[in-house]
Amino acid sequence: MRIAITGACGFLGSHLCDYFLGKGAKVIAVDNLITGSTRNIEHLAGNRNFQFLHHDVTNYIFIEGKIDAILHFASPASPRDYLELPIQTLKVGSLGTHKALGLAKEKGARFLLASTSEVYGDPLVHPQREEYWGNVNPVGPRGVYDEAKRFAEAMTMAYHRFHGVDTRIVRIFNTYGPRMRIRDGRALPNFFVQALRNEPITIYGDGSQTRSFVYIEDEVEGIARALENGDNDPINIGNPQEITILQLAREIIEVTGSSSEIVLKDLPEDDPKVRQPDISKAKRLLKWEPKISRADGLARTCEYFKKMVVEDEF
Ligand code: UDP
Repeated sequence: MRIAITGACGFLGSHLCDYFLGKGAKVIAVDNLITGSTRNIEHLAGNRNFQFLHHDVTNYIFIEGKIDAILHFASPASPRDYLELPIQTLKVGSLGTHKALGLAKEKGARFLLASTSEVYGDPLVHPQREEYWGNVNPVGPRGVYDEAKRFAEAMTMAYHRFHGVDTRIVRIFNTYGPRMRIRDGRALPNFFVQALRNEPITIYGDGSQTRSFVYIEDEVEGIARALENGDNDPINIGNPQEITILQLAREIIEVTGSSSEIVLKDLPEDDPKVRQPDISKAKRLLKWEPKISRADGLARTCEYFKKMVVEDEF
């Protein structure tokens, strides 16, 4: 297998590089490094099966030779990032997806789109099944990400229906683990860094909003199985264990042994109130479900953030 991964220097992308190299594949890692970092792939330097291409996928992508699969993961993905990079977010979801699909068509490669639970917006159906069309504010601050991904799904289906490309759409729910950035801005990295520094933990709103967190290793396995055995319709890959953000903060205080206090801040506009994947389809079709408990995942992630926080002080 020769696989191209866009957004390969990001959190998910870099773990996918490791996964597929571990399976003996050749990997071409494409990234423009606006939110990704070469630090996430530096351990792969010198690996003969690995190649890095510094490129912005909103422009024509040229790769020589055969490619069996394209995994399109390029996009700012943290709310902080897509608020700071709204145009780039829209461009990579639209133009970038178009270019990546064009490459898949040209090479006769299978294509996998990294979509998101954000396509469901602030959901009115709970938990979220793939059949639910979502509740998205197109002109709100999160619209740049949500609508870009919704467009990307539509474009992926059009390439499947019209050009016969063998496509996959994976709707990824909140994922965590090593290689998240300490200034990522999302709840879980914020809480770890704040807790390890014994600084106040910032909860937006009253903390009653929920999310469902999946550990990176489980997520990567789910994505790989979707590529291998999925169908052409969207599939949720996430952990159905739902918790409030307040509960997450408490668990992180506990695992870090922190003396941090919790402070409440304003809730951002259009912040989803609940989120939980219905993973019946993934269980049935892919024989996949998450295996790593939150206690285990948070303990592993804690070791990583401890190192990052120490390093950041130098
Ligand atoms: N959040 C929070 N404190 C933070 C960062 C985020 O309470 O320091 C909240 C955010 O408003 C949302 C939830 O935590 O309700 C999850 O946010 P995150 O940015 O991790 O990702 P999302 O799931 O919203 O894309």
